[in-house]
Amino acid sequence: AAKRSGRNTVRAFDEAIRQSLAKRLEIETALRQAIRDHAIRPYYQPLIDLRSGEIRGFEALARWETSDGRFIPPSDFIEVAESTGLITELSEQLLRAACADARSWPAHVHLSFNLSPTQLNDRLLGLRIVRILMEAGLSPKRLEVEITESALIHNSAAAETILSDLHEAGISVALDDFGTGYSSLSQLSKFKFDKIKIDRSFVTDLEHDDKQEKIVRAILGLGQGLGIATTAEGIEDEGQRINLLEMGCDCGQGYLFGKAVPAAAIPGLLAGASNAVAAKA
Ligand code: C2E
Ligand code: MG
Ligand code: MG
Ligand code: MG
Repeated sequence: AAKRSGRNTVRAFDEAIRQSLAKRLEIETALRQAIRDHAIRPYYQPLIDLRSGEIRGFEALARWETSDGRFIPPSDFIEVAESTGLITELSEQLLRAACADARSWPAHVHLSFNLSPTQLNDRLLGLRIVRILMEAGLSPKRLEVEITESALIHNSAAAETILSDLHEAGISVALDDFGTGYSSLSQLSKFKFDKIKIDRSFVTDLEHDDKQEKIVRAILGLGQGLGIATTAEGIEDEGQRINLLEMGCDCGQGYLFGKAVPAAAIPGLLAGASNAVAAKA
């Protein structure tokens, strides 16, 4: 009986694997098509100067709109894009679109763009990005790329070349999801970052969890000590905003200020931002 149930377990396992492979293949095929159709577009979430309340920039976040009007979030396709190598083409397409959009924003409003860890295998990545900016006519000073720690751990040799190419061109580099990886601090000493983005998980419990608050304070102190700007992710309520402002955090991002919107909504946000600040003050 034990043997039979073992065999059944194996069979169930095989079936689960078969199904997940089929699912993956289905997503991959659809993803290829979506890239061909330019159906994955950047949306933009505002980055707010916590002291003045002004919009400092926008982070491009990929949104896949299917033909029946559904939106597929990045968590459902970025990983597939990475493992299939489609990320290179997808990312270039998104960056081109984002640069074209950002060109019409006021010069002091920057564009933040996420890079995948696997993209940091490519030593020429920095140069490719610079070329896309040149073709799009967007000043490198207006671009900030966001990378996570895992990207640096797995590709630290190539990453060094890429980061120095980016810096040389005048592009800023932000360390995204700070505090969630396993060697955040060593990354800070090894590479030069312009910004630290404190992960949402620390911001969420800020008001109720004394430990989280101490950790955020320590990260902000680290940023100040190293001369690196800080942004807090995932600010959803007034209490968090005021706390972070009082702790000296430079910028904030989160649903309190706004979710990611299509490019067409940005002029309205920029025009309305001064009113919003006035209302809050
Ligand atoms: P991320 O770079 O850390 O982006 C922030 C994520 O947090 C976004 O999720 C954003 O919508 C979400 N977020 C912002 N404020 C709040 C808030 O107040 N509350 C909550 N609950 N969430 C908030 P999204 O757009 O689903 O993106 C998830 C991740 O996918 C991003 O995390 C980034 O790592 C990746 N991603 C998105 N677009 C791209 C892209 O074009 N290329 C690459 N390589 N990765 C991307
Ligand atoms: Mg990001
Ligand atoms: Mg992040
Ligand atoms: Mg995050």
